[in-house]
Amino acid sequence: MKKILIFLLIILSQIPSTTLKLTVINYKNKIKSMENNISNTIDTNHVTYIKGILLVNKKYGLPKDYGNGIDATALYYLHQMQSDALSIGLYIPVLSAYRSYDTQKEIYNIYYQKDGLNADRYSARPGHSEHQTGLAFDVGRIDDNYINTPEGIWLNEMCSLYGFIIRYPKDKENITGYKYEPWHIRYVGDVSTYIMNNNLALEEYLEVE
Ligand SMILES: [Zn+2]
Repeated sequence: MKKILIFLLIILSQIPSTTLKLTVINYKNKIKSMENNISNTIDTNHVTYIKGILLVNKKYGLPKDYGNGIDATALYYLHQMQSDALSIGLYIPVLSAYRSYDTQKEIYNIYYQKDGLNADRYSARPGHSEHQTGLAFDVGRIDDNYINTPEGIWLNEMCSLYGFIIRYPKDKENITGYKYEPWHIRYVGDVSTYIMNNNLALEEYLEVE
């Protein structure tokens, strides 16, 4: 027994310590890549995609030079939605669509002058507005009571059929960081129905804080 132990010690002492270190590093990298796969989070120069969906909120921002207008797919489905609504007599105009970093900066500053930090409940800081993605639209009327109008009700019930979600749902301010906005829609594609049917905030669907 003693002989075997001595033999093992000799063998171990023959393994260069660098080999051991490399093994540890490889193992750590392996775990890291496993973790990345699990959360499926890609952060490319501060552009964050989770489950294939671009996430922008108070925590996840965009580079200053990100975005150059309305996303073509989102616009296509927006037009479909508007024309279907119009066919039953509901007019849902676009009030605001793509906004650049600089435009958002001006807007936020105006609200900040007026409301101080309370502005954060309804206005995004530059680099943190969904409007910079080109995938978000303010439609109908910017009014808390929009949800009580035929247009607002229709939008809430139907937008998911066109790939949109109500991005800042009712009673989710603790999750989204924004009060209820029945007029702000965000294009997410196919998963919109699941998100809306289950009354989820995007953060809940993406399982982020
Ligand atoms: Zn908006």
